[in-house]
Amino acid sequence: MTSIYSLTKEDLENYFVNLGEKKFKATQIYEWIYRKRVNDFSLMSNIKKEILERLKKDFKFDDIKIISKKEDVDVKKYLFELNDKNKIEAVLMNHNYGNSLCISTQVGCNMACSFCESGRLKKVRNLNANEMILQVLKIEQNLNIKISHIVLMGIGEPFDNYDNVIKFINIINDPYGIALGSRHITVSTSGLVPKILQFIKDGKQVNLAISLHAPNDELRSKIMPVNKAYNIDKLIKAVKEYIYNTNRRVTFEYIMLKNVNDTYECALQLSKLLKGINCYVNLIPYNETTHIEYKKSSKEKIMRFYDILKKNKINVTIRREFGRKVNAACGQLRSNYEEGL
Ligand code: SF4
Repeated sequence: MTSIYSLTKEDLENYFVNLGEKKFKATQIYEWIYRKRVNDFSLMSNIKKEILERLKKDFKFDDIKIISKKEDVDVKKYLFELNDKNKIEAVLMNHNYGNSLCISTQVGCNMACSFCESGRLKKVRNLNANEMILQVLKIEQNLNIKISHIVLMGIGEPFDNYDNVIKFINIINDPYGIALGSRHITVSTSGLVPKILQFIKDGKQVNLAISLHAPNDELRSKIMPVNKAYNIDKLIKAVKEYIYNTNRRVTFEYIMLKNVNDTYECALQLSKLLKGINCYVNLIPYNETTHIEYKKSSKEKIMRFYDILKKNKINVTIRREFGRKVNAACGQLRSNYEEGL
């Protein structure tokens, strides 16, 4: 049976039109689900009984289970079990501007970035839109809060699960759905160029972040195999096209790996690569894991890198460190759980 959480409002409107009913019923149902957070058709008191019976036959309210929750200052990390027993993670970060939730889009990931715990665990399957929605609803319910920002940057490559991700964005962006503004939603990709071009065509107004992590092809191909398919030149061309079409600023994520991509030369190359592009660079201190040999760059190295970018007029920030105590690197909670740690 189809999950009611996997339907965009348009899907639901089409469903009602096919039943010979008025479209606005979809808005009423959406209000019950996402405004009043009701998860039982019987409680939808302004909907006719026959329609409720039909909805009960056609759709279900599914659920995902929170099986572990770890907390540190300003961060909470959730491990979920899906109906088929696969496990995924979501991380909630408290910023001064609100509660930002980083969700997973796949079980595992095929991109195999060498510094990433999720990439070590190969993709098992894509998440459906309802499994992304439920990460948001469950955490809001668990903490009795409203999430203000959503980032698709947890386990998985969002653009390798493009259609479900777009559905998810439509639902959370809908004023009668979770009602998050486009500017509060960020999709992060490791650089699947054809999907970036598709994303431009689809005209979504949400933020785009690129996991760059290296300023030249030799190094990037070493740490991110996706670069062998879509090199930096192709990636930057796609980004420029995105900026040209949307007039929006792009974020480049750059994880600082000790003696790998944090050198003086790398900072200069990165400055040259991004010169004149409407972007900002987010330098991310690396979260060391037991399985991967990379080390985090020292604070001094990160500051030096930052200064070089600044001097070259590149907008740059250093991401605050979150949750070393809670295995905050993406995929770490899941792999530790499976190893019984
Ligand atoms: S960093 Fe992202 S794209 Fe790369 S392997 Fe990890 S989850 Fe996949």
